[in-house]
Amino acid sequence: MVKFLDLQKINAQYEQELKEAASRVIDSGWYLLGNELESFETNYTKFCQTKHAIGVANGLDALRLIFKAYIELGIMQTGDEVIVPANTYIASILAITDNHLVPVFVEPNMDTYNLDSNKIEQAVTSKTKAVLTVHLYGQNSIDDTMLDVCKKYNLKLVEDSAQSHGALWKEKVMGSIGDAAGHSFYPGKNLGALGDAGAVTTNNDELAQVIRTLANYGSSKKYENVYRGLNSRLDEIQAAFLNVKLKYIHTDILGRRRVANYYLKHINNPDIILPEVLNQNSHVWHLFVIRTSKREKLQKYLNEHGVQTLIHYPIPPHKQQAYMEFSHLSLPTTEKIHKEVLSLPISAVLSESELEKITKTINLYSTDN
Ligand SMILES: *Cc1c(COP(=O)(O)O)cnc(C)c1O
Repeated sequence: MVKFLDLQKINAQYEQELKEAASRVIDSGWYLLGNELESFETNYTKFCQTKHAIGVANGLDALRLIFKAYIELGIMQTGDEVIVPANTYIASILAITDNHLVPVFVEPNMDTYNLDSNKIEQAVTSKTKAVLTVHLYGQNSIDDTMLDVCKKYNLKLVEDSAQSHGALWKEKVMGSIGDAAGHSFYPGKNLGALGDAGAVTTNNDELAQVIRTLANYGSSKKYENVYRGLNSRLDEIQAAFLNVKLKYIHTDILGRRRVANYYLKHINNPDIILPEVLNQNSHVWHLFVIRTSKREKLQKYLNEHGVQTLIHYPIPPHKQQAYMEFSHLSLPTTEKIHKEVLSLPISAVLSESELEKITKTINLYSTDN
C-alpha cells in the first residue's frame, strides 16, 4: 500500500538530529519559553522575511490570537465581519467565531480553489474589518485585486499560512504580505513538528507585542495580567525539532515539486481534472488535489489497487453541524469542490516506483468499470 503520508519515513530522514535535539532539551531542565523557542523564532522570521515570529501552541491559536489582538487594540469588536473563503478547513472559521466576529463566506475560484478576489468587494459592508485569505494546498491566494480592495476599505489582510510554508508571490514569502499570518506546524504540514505547534508572523511591532502577551496568559510580567489571555505556547522540545526541520524545508519543497511535476506530466486520464499551477516556482504543494465527478468510486478503486488517498475536505464549514446558522447559504462552487476533490499521496520521500504505480493505476481507471 502506498500511504497517503508516511510521517515515520519523513522524520526518519532527520532521526539523529531530532534525537540530539530532544536530549538537549531534556538535559537542559528548561521546557517552556527558552533558547530553543527564541532561536526558532529568529530562524522563522528569516525564513518568512518578517520582522516578528511568535511561537504559539498550534495553527488555530495563531489565527485566533491575531483577531483577539485586534479586538484588544480596539481595531475590531464583537459583530464585526471577516471575509473568508467558503472553501477552507474549519480552523479558519473557528478563529473568527471564537472571537465573536462574523464570517462572511465568499466563493473560491474553481481553478485555483482559493478565494476569488473578484468577489471580495461585493461582500464588503460597513461592518467588514478584515479579509482572512487561505493559501490552500500550498498555493498563494493573494493578488493585486485583493490588496486594492483591502486598501480601499481599510481592511486588515490576515493570511492563513497553515499549508503554505515558503510559498511565494512576486518573490515575497507567504506570511509576509498581509498584516499578520497564522502558521501551523501540525505533524502533517510541510514544516511539521512532532506534535502540535504554530506561529504568528507580522511586521507590526504593536500587534506582535499584544499577541505575545495574549499567548502567555495576557501577561508580559509574571503574575501581572494586562489582558484575559490564553495559554498558548510553543514548547522547547517542539521548537528544537522545528529548528532541525526548518534547515531542510527548501529541499523538502523541491521534493514535493518533483512529485507534483511527475503527476502533472504523467496523469492523462480524461475523467480527472489536474490542479492549476499559477507559478511552478512558488507553489509548495502541501496537497496534490485532483477533481472528478465520481470521487467515491475513484477513491475505492485506488484503495483496492494499493493507493491511499484522502479528501480535503468532505464537508464545507457552512454545512457542518457546528455551524447550522450558515447551512441555508448557497455556495455552489464550494459545494461542488467538496464533492469532487481527492488528494493523492505527496511528500519528498515518495519513490519513483511508487509514483509510477500511482500514475499507472490512475490512468487505467475508467468511470465505466
Ligand atoms: C492545519 C490548518 C489549520 C490549523 O492548524 P492546527 O495546527 O491544526 O491548529 C488552519 N488552517 C488551515 C488551512 C489548516 O490546514
